[in-house]
Amino acid sequence: TGQPSHRVQMVKPSPTLAVTARAAELRAAGQDIIGLGAGEPDFDTPDHIKAAAIKAINEGKTKYTAVDGTVELKQAIIDKFNRDNGHSYAPDQILVSSGGKQSFFNLCLALIDKGDEVVIPAPYWVSYPDMVAIAEGVPVIVKGTMENRFKLTPDQLEAVITPKTKLVVLNSPSNPSGTAYTRKELEGLAAVLLKHPHVMVATDDMYEHILWSDEPFCNILMACPELYDRTIVLNGVSKAYSMTGWRIGYAGGPAWLIKNMKKIQSQSTSNPCSIAQAAATEALAGPQDCVKEMLVAFKKRHDYVVGRLNKLPGVSTIESDGTFYAFPDFSEAMKKLGFEKDTQLAEMLLEKGVALVPGSAFGMEGCMRLSYATSDKALEKALDRVESALI
Ligand code: PLP
Repeated sequence: TGQPSHRVQMVKPSPTLAVTARAAELRAAGQDIIGLGAGEPDFDTPDHIKAAAIKAINEGKTKYTAVDGTVELKQAIIDKFNRDNGHSYAPDQILVSSGGKQSFFNLCLALIDKGDEVVIPAPYWVSYPDMVAIAEGVPVIVKGTMENRFKLTPDQLEAVITPKTKLVVLNSPSNPSGTAYTRKELEGLAAVLLKHPHVMVATDDMYEHILWSDEPFCNILMACPELYDRTIVLNGVSKAYSMTGWRIGYAGGPAWLIKNMKKIQSQSTSNPCSIAQAAATEALAGPQDCVKEMLVAFKKRHDYVVGRLNKLPGVSTIESDGTFYAFPDFSEAMKKLGFEKDTQLAEMLLEKGVALVPGSAFGMEGCMRLSYATSDKALEKALDRVESALI
């Protein structure tokens, strides 16, 4: 019999995809399950973006493109970074990939050596630690607290940096916590990074436009331009433009790093889909009203969901700054129900007809991630079910 590599044995399958698959399985068996596990907007991709893809097909843009993306898309990304973030990049500082997931994967393989430490604040996007493990790096998980809105503090960062620290990963607004760093908080983290010039920082801005806090969006490079040579900015069209299936993510950063990420991509997948690139060009360069419309809907649902959650016995939830996730703490409710692990609670709620992702998947046992990228009706019904399961 065959033996898989030691590398693959260090990897867990994505728990969020597993919840979605399990819900689909139960549904196929005839059960009525409301899925609040998925990490994707429920809106259709806007029409003008679809039209750009259809046009690309009709014009024969159906062949290989440059590995790092078409000239048009890279220019749209350069313009976007300038317009929204004030970052200035040349074309050789941009890499387009098949989703934000591949951008981070390329980064890990291009930057991390065996034993290198990567600081990952928890709760984290499920894929970070596993991708670091594939690159044979060591994820250094730093747990946030609800009191600090699940964000990394400068003291926590200072305490974990060692000579082996290669990278710090920031994600704001955060999947799963829904909270965003303020400029002031980022300045505090930047002050620590400036003391340790051997450390790089990745800022995953995937939810940049799904933000309703009073403060405008800020990332670590906007807060501290001195970090330009040490920052890689990751973003994509999946969430902002409801384009998860098109698979386009992008990165901006130092030319040497982008060149090496491109090398990994050139020997794995080559260019991302040519048609999806044409659609992404329109998404970034075309009208932006669609983003605002989705934001209004997400905020309305957020207020409803957080309001309902905070009325549940033994559940406490902070208001999100953005994204389409709430991240309630169920630990008191779990105690009352006699559950030790949040996976037990998730399984019980699944039996009651609601699929949620347990916090342990994100490095935060006792919480649950609830995605409100679904209809108001489904949310109401799902919360009724959670309520009756807890009483
Ligand atoms: N980064 C974060 C924080 C995410 O939540 C996701 C998707 O769930 C991604 C990156 C990757 O997105 P995609 O590969 O669909 O572009």
